[in-house]
Amino acid sequence: MSISQLIYGFIHQAVDDQLLEAIDELYVRNRLLALFNQSEYRDEAESGDRRPLLDWLDDLVEYGVTHQIIDDTQSDRDILEASVMDLLMPKPSDLNHEFWHLYAENPEVATDYFYQLSKQSNYIKTREIAKNVAFTGETKYGNLQITINLSKPEKDPVEIAKAKSMPQVNYPKCALCMENEGYRGHINHAARQNHRIIRMDLDNGLYGFQYSPYLYYNEHSIFLSDKHEPMVIDLKCFDNLLEIIEIFPHYFVGSNADLPGVGGSILTHDHYQGGRQVFPMDQAEVIDVVAVNHHDEVECELLKWPMSVIRLRSADKDQLLDAANQILQAWRQYDDPDNDIYAETDQPHNTVTPIARRKGEQFELDLVLRNNRTTEELPLGIFHPHPDVHHIKKENIGLIEVMGLAILPPRLLAEVETIKQYLLGEVALDEVKVYHQTWAESLKADYADDVEVSDFIQQGIVKKFERVLEDAGVYKQTEQGLTGLKQFIESVDL
Ligand SMILES: [Zn+2]
Repeated sequence: MSISQLIYGFIHQAVDDQLLEAIDELYVRNRLLALFNQSEYRDEAESGDRRPLLDWLDDLVEYGVTHQIIDDTQSDRDILEASVMDLLMPKPSDLNHEFWHLYAENPEVATDYFYQLSKQSNYIKTREIAKNVAFTGETKYGNLQITINLSKPEKDPVEIAKAKSMPQVNYPKCALCMENEGYRGHINHAARQNHRIIRMDLDNGLYGFQYSPYLYYNEHSIFLSDKHEPMVIDLKCFDNLLEIIEIFPHYFVGSNADLPGVGGSILTHDHYQGGRQVFPMDQAEVIDVVAVNHHDEVECELLKWPMSVIRLRSADKDQLLDAANQILQAWRQYDDPDNDIYAETDQPHNTVTPIARRKGEQFELDLVLRNNRTTEELPLGIFHPHPDVHHIKKENIGLIEVMGLAILPPRLLAEVETIKQYLLGEVALDEVKVYHQTWAESLKADYADDVEVSDFIQQGIVKKFERVLEDAGVYKQTEQGLTGLKQFIESVDL
């Protein structure tokens, strides 16, 4: 197809999809001609072809590659894609006006609008996300969820070498900075021309609201400070979380912990993650109700969950914040040698992963106790997945895993395929990756051939994830652990 035909098809579909008004057609046509180094448009090219917008986008990018407008690399393709889609996006000011105008009518209508737009603009990578493999499995803590993440394209070795040889650029300072909005991107930084951020004036400062391009769950959102400052779990953070769910009562929001080893991958930029999803932890059984003496509007519960969760609930925000802060301050200092917990050695170790959600008029705030101390035998952490489960999960247990959803690497898919063949007697044990061999043998010992083999292995992965979470829990769900947790919460004297 000629470039004029591609431009015509793309624009026509964008109008059909209501991403473009007819009055903007000529303008976008001319911007596209410029982007593809063309001076002329031939209208005999116009035809009635109807295809999904992203198919037209793919063809435009392919045209760019074959006509050497861009190099044939993933990052150049991403940049061209984002610059084409940017032409269909409102300016940040227009988007913000529209969003808050819809919000005045109904918060859900506003987030639906922004979510839909973020998908239509290909900022949220719906096609890539569809490749993910997801399953659940029953454990003694209820259902746990697994996603094998196949959505992020892997860079080829040539690109990795090229990326390394590039001079360092310190703008934007990180992937969560507001300065990403509209940024062209380069080999070491994602293309963000079609990216837009909603501004939220919280009591503690200006925050941005955006979706995650590689959603791990429904309406996976990110709330980020307008300042590139480190994450801190404190009263201000709890206050921000509750304010966010006041603004968006249909969303939950949580924060990664603020210490290395138990937090997320970006500790250098203050941010939270939220969305519209019920996680396994939300539905965990209550195993104990804690007496509250000084906050008469607050309820406190302990959960049957592999991580150590203290759940607070109240319709009174001030009392809830005060109780949560009291727990945090106490935990920061708390030693429990019987359970291997030391708040400080040469550095602080205790922190929490907080998660907030609405229950009607009430606010619910879960504080998940964390400790990042390491030993010579456990250099990644005492309360971190132990070496015998590293073949499934070795990385930090962050907010999303804490709530019962594991995000596992793509390599696992091919590895599981070999294990499946091994269980069916089609290949020998030495075909299985060395680090999976012990597990594969124990699976084989338990495997009965009246069970579907893929399901059987998936349930094996769920069991491993259950162990991963148990390792990361500071107080184990044993008599000793639960007594320790109870002693801690009673010492706080809420
Ligand atoms: Zn930043």
